[in-house]
Amino acid sequence: MNPLFAELPTTVFEVMSRLARETGAINLGQGFPDDPGPEDVRRAAADAVMTGWNQYPPMMGLPELRQAVAGHYARHQDVALDWESEVMITSGATEALAGALMALIQPGDEVVLFQPLYDAYLPLVLRAGGVPRFVRLEPPHWRFDEAQLRAAFSPKTRVVLLNNPLNPSATIAPREDLELLARFCVENDTIALCDEVWEHVVFDGARHLSMLAIPGMRERTVKIGSAGKIFSLTGWKVGFVCAHAHILRVLAKAHQFITFTTPPNLQAAVAYGLGKDQTYFEGMRAALQRSRDRFATGLSERGFSVLPSAGTYFLNVDLAPLGETDDVAFCQRLVQEHGVAAIPVSAFYARDPIRSVVRFCFAKRDEVLDGALSRLETVARKAA
Ligand code: PMP
Ligand code: GLN
Repeated sequence: MNPLFAELPTTVFEVMSRLARETGAINLGQGFPDDPGPEDVRRAAADAVMTGWNQYPPMMGLPELRQAVAGHYARHQDVALDWESEVMITSGATEALAGALMALIQPGDEVVLFQPLYDAYLPLVLRAGGVPRFVRLEPPHWRFDEAQLRAAFSPKTRVVLLNNPLNPSATIAPREDLELLARFCVENDTIALCDEVWEHVVFDGARHLSMLAIPGMRERTVKIGSAGKIFSLTGWKVGFVCAHAHILRVLAKAHQFITFTTPPNLQAAVAYGLGKDQTYFEGMRAALQRSRDRFATGLSERGFSVLPSAGTYFLNVDLAPLGETDDVAFCQRLVQEHGVAAIPVSAFYARDPIRSVVRFCFAKRDEVLDGALSRLETVARKAA
């Protein structure tokens, strides 16, 4: 069997969720919200199951959803897309990533990856024959600079994979960083594969800036989105891929033999949801921001050093001030002795891990967050 997968451990999200179930811990590990998601969007899916089309939809996605995606990005991100040649629907962002990496990489091509990296990226790059070149980001700002990009890029760099907003650091790349990266992409004729699944989950009035909107990048960016994050329905697995027609044509060839299509009823509901007015998106962000603030304040009051969270469902705690140097051991103790599951951020590094940061998901009801905080009452003080 292929040794890459044969020797791969089970993903940390699954491991921690299983441990949480076994120990009865409060699960602030794997990122999924308590909120059941907007009722009208769920109703649209149910109606589509009962009265709509339940056979194979078109391979590129339902036209109504592709039009809705193009319209949505025009309204929310000033990105103009031709829905027929530049938008494709996939079974989640994960399929979009897998298909794009298969379609864009030839064995031996170099791929620039930023650490911390979402755990699916590296195995998919390696399986496609890509040669990873890592750029290491560190707390508290988790930004890259020109010297790091110069060291990582070469004329052999075919793809750079950027996650923005970034899971797990909960940071948003500023425009100047995107422009810097764009310069390297143009100089090296590199495609930017941009995982923008957290585009709507941004706080404090921030507005998402897509790599597609950066000068010089319109024809060399693949933008990936996910309805799971936009509607707090992470199990839905409806993804969007947007790219210039000359790229999308090739990505579609990979998609047609990975999943071919995505359930039509969910596509119909997402098409409806993307048309919701601004108040839904603002309300979703405001509710999450409240949870972020409640949990961050509670952690700080209990002696934890909380790193800023500008977006995503996550916030991080820096263990260094507690003298803690092993995030994995800390998370094991947290789940087994204190009944709270979190994610060690070292799991997002392939080499030279940061070992002093732990990620919590705050997208939970107040009583769940308060319950976790009371279980964490003495943890920091004991360690310090
Ligand atoms: N990329 C990132 C950065 C993610 O955080 C996630 C899931 N949280 C995904 C991709 C997967 O998205 P989907 O569930 O749509 O496959
Ligand atoms: N993206 C989610 C997270 O970061 C987990 C997704 C998964 O379990 N694969 O928690």
